[in-house]
Amino acid sequence: MSSFYVENFGCRATQADGAAIEHQFEERGFQRASAASQADFVVLNTCTVTAAADQDARAAIRRVHRINPECQIIVTGCYAQRAPAEIATLPGVTMVVGNSHKHQLADFVHTKPGHSFVPLASLARRDREAIPIHVSDIFAHTELLAAPVFDASNERTRPNLKVQDGCDNRCSFCVIPSVRGHSRSLPLPQALREVNSLVDTGYKEVVISGINLGRWGRDLESQQSGTICSRRLRLEGLVRAILDQTELQKLRISSVEPMDWSDELIQLMASTPRIAKHTHVPLQSGSDTVLRRMHRKYRPWHYREKIEKIHALMPAAAIGADVMVGFPGESEAEFEETQRMVQDLPFTYLHVFTYSPRPGTSAAAMGNQVPVRIARERNRVLRELASQKKLGFMQSFVGRSIQAITLNKSPEQGNSPFTEALTDNYLKLYLTGSHLANTWLTASVHGLEEEVLLGSKV
Ligand code: SF4
Repeated sequence: MSSFYVENFGCRATQADGAAIEHQFEERGFQRASAASQADFVVLNTCTVTAAADQDARAAIRRVHRINPECQIIVTGCYAQRAPAEIATLPGVTMVVGNSHKHQLADFVHTKPGHSFVPLASLARRDREAIPIHVSDIFAHTELLAAPVFDASNERTRPNLKVQDGCDNRCSFCVIPSVRGHSRSLPLPQALREVNSLVDTGYKEVVISGINLGRWGRDLESQQSGTICSRRLRLEGLVRAILDQTELQKLRISSVEPMDWSDELIQLMASTPRIAKHTHVPLQSGSDTVLRRMHRKYRPWHYREKIEKIHALMPAAAIGADVMVGFPGESEAEFEETQRMVQDLPFTYLHVFTYSPRPGTSAAAMGNQVPVRIARERNRVLRELASQKKLGFMQSFVGRSIQAITLNKSPEQGNSPFTEALTDNYLKLYLTGSHLANTWLTASVHGLEEEVLLGSKV
């Protein structure tokens, strides 16, 4: 029996696709290998969000080819969708499958070229060898791969359910819409079925995610228009349905664009302990002029208003943001606007990225690229600021009680005196003693050490 191994790179959406690909293989009778070195088929599910992501994928192809020269390497994901011919020339690669055909990946392997399958795109030539490339226009596709997946750092405690894919925005720096296509949503009944089945399996927290999660439902709504069941489908409706129609203890909502944080969604989150007090709101820049050049749809004052509302209703909530430095033409004054905004707003953590030009995006063609040295320095400044803000936030919980879920791992190997947990508001917590994993409990926090809270079960 042939064996397979899937290695994922990049965001949660890619991890979810990888889990769905694993199901495809298992349904067709393939066996899961414990490592790439043991597998007949190795699927590398790639990311292309930055040049570094492309580089990681190429390094992985070389590594797998070196440790297991006999295996078939199938490259899929966002990088495969963006640059299939480039990938097909790399030694060891036997097939390239874009996001457009990911949902058929195991069939391609199962049927093998020469059987019923005809490659959809051209064949790439490499040393007279033909490499099948299965890639076509992503905007013609509406499939949504969805399988619950686990964040590796939390082991198997908090499954992540992708309920939305693709994006209809056109941020000038972002390559994602061209490799993931239009926004599309997991229909409500299917989303509820997935959550219910995770609850039945014993999970106490589920994270819902997407490429542009805040757009959940819009495509379903337009499919319904003109029919008698036409109704408004929005993220808050999905959240409400999960609360009403499942027994899930805790729902965590991953990144949502600022304009999709409606008053209703914020109030819903504030109104129930069943939604984790954790908001992630991409900012990218605090400068109006930079946001305009990025083609972002909100202005800094809109963003500020949303964060202030969230903070006013939920003062203990985690508030995180993605911030990009070194966008083409970002002047010192524009960077300082971002710095001021980060300083002013109650962020509890930041993901700071340095701009990296992506082929095919309008920002890549803009003049006035910021020198790497300056961009790196801006990145350092914001990270330092973020770290100070995070420590201040964590410090404010010392001496207080906090809700947390125990994770399925201990902070140290062997007989650790602690159990690792994650708080409702997304802070790492070490609990004294050994506690059953996957349990929500109340902890009393008595200290803070190297960005980890220390506490004990109440
Ligand atoms: S909202 Fe903008 S940054 Fe996010 S995936 Fe869509 S285009 Fe990219």
